[in-house]
Amino acid sequence: MFYRAFTRNTFIASLTGAALFGAAILTLDVDIRLKDAQAAATPATGEQSLAKPSPDRDVYYPGTEELAADEMRVIACGTGMPMPRLKQAAACFVIELGNGDKFIFDMGNGSFERIHALGIPLDYLDKVFITHPHMDHMADLATFYMTGPQNNRSVPLRVWGPGGGGMRPEWGMKAAMDHMEKTWAWMSGTLAGTIDTTAFKLEVTEYDWSKVNNVIYEDNGVVIRSLPAIHFEGTASFILEWSGLRLAFSGDSLPNKWWIEHTQGVDLAIHECFFTPDMAMSKWSFSSQEALNAVTTVHANPSYFAKVMAMTKPKHAVAYHFQNDFDTQPIIRKAIEQIYDGPVDYAQDFMVWNVTKEGVRTRMAVVNPEAYPPPPLKEKKVEAGGDRYQTPDSVLAGWPEEFNALAEEIYSDFNQEHGTDYKFQLKK
Ligand SMILES: [Zn+2]
Ligand SMILES: [Zn+2]
Repeated sequence: MFYRAFTRNTFIASLTGAALFGAAILTLDVDIRLKDAQAAATPATGEQSLAKPSPDRDVYYPGTEELAADEMRVIACGTGMPMPRLKQAAACFVIELGNGDKFIFDMGNGSFERIHALGIPLDYLDKVFITHPHMDHMADLATFYMTGPQNNRSVPLRVWGPGGGGMRPEWGMKAAMDHMEKTWAWMSGTLAGTIDTTAFKLEVTEYDWSKVNNVIYEDNGVVIRSLPAIHFEGTASFILEWSGLRLAFSGDSLPNKWWIEHTQGVDLAIHECFFTPDMAMSKWSFSSQEALNAVTTVHANPSYFAKVMAMTKPKHAVAYHFQNDFDTQPIIRKAIEQIYDGPVDYAQDFMVWNVTKEGVRTRMAVVNPEAYPPPPLKEKKVEAGGDRYQTPDSVLAGWPEEFNALAEEIYSDFNQEHGTDYKFQLKK
């Protein structure tokens, strides 16, 4: 059992790793081996068959598994740092519930392509919760937002982010989203009247980041609360509660009494875990002062992470927000294990957690690196009217007349194939 499962998983993981991440294979394999050791200890729940799919899946293939009515699935779509790398995007986790609800917690740079690889129609992914406006926690919100029409989102985007609490209004989420909309004025303006731009509508909710255990979302049996974090100002952590399950999520934070009080015994605690000072110097070329400051006064180093987990005893802990490689993970693991001996996953992108009252199951997702947008769930509607954008005549004057015949031929072929009667015209 162990040998068979090990061989098959290592092969699949290596194939995916080779296609996506190259050098990541080694790390991936180490974790898969550990997971297999756990899986091997668990008896199969169904009969094996030569013709039917295996009853127990050792990896997660997105879109192929039903969630139980009281089950939660969390998928890491960004576990790394602001420094860009192929293997890890910056902070982002997708949460799927058995009632059909889906949420995105943080959306750091590089994360949208990971989300997209899961193949979830974007109409189901309209709720994004941001812990704080650092780019490694919200930079891909712009990509997600502005590519909405092309990626078949036919509903407005809803964003929850910090504001109030004595912070300057211009640092709050409403100001940030207002500027984001304005930054892309050319793009949305030139698309007006030619595609369905419903996806460009934004519904922004600023929550007071300074309030403790503050309900910022409540619908369909799901409650999301915010806690203040210690990370400059205007930073929060979240607790999602549904069907008796509790998930705690920190964007960035030093250990803080609010987290320690309110996340006791949660089912899944996802918390930042930075490098040690020495690692910050050797890997990031930080000066000694910069390194110490960053990992002891702004972020949680592995020892802080471990002590927080020892004090809160989650059923399952997840350490993220560091470059998780063959040479970094052992150092972080060693620092944590000196203080905390509970279950910890050292997160990588596409790690998946299935959370039920019975416990937490960790696997890696095998995703499609050649994803296309999932089809729209609603009929696309282009708004008619006087706002339709028209390219200026001075620009169209550059069109070579010799291309008219070629364009008309394309139209003729298309009309014949599809039974339509479109006419080629550059000017609308
Ligand atoms: Zn931050
Ligand atoms: Zn961060």
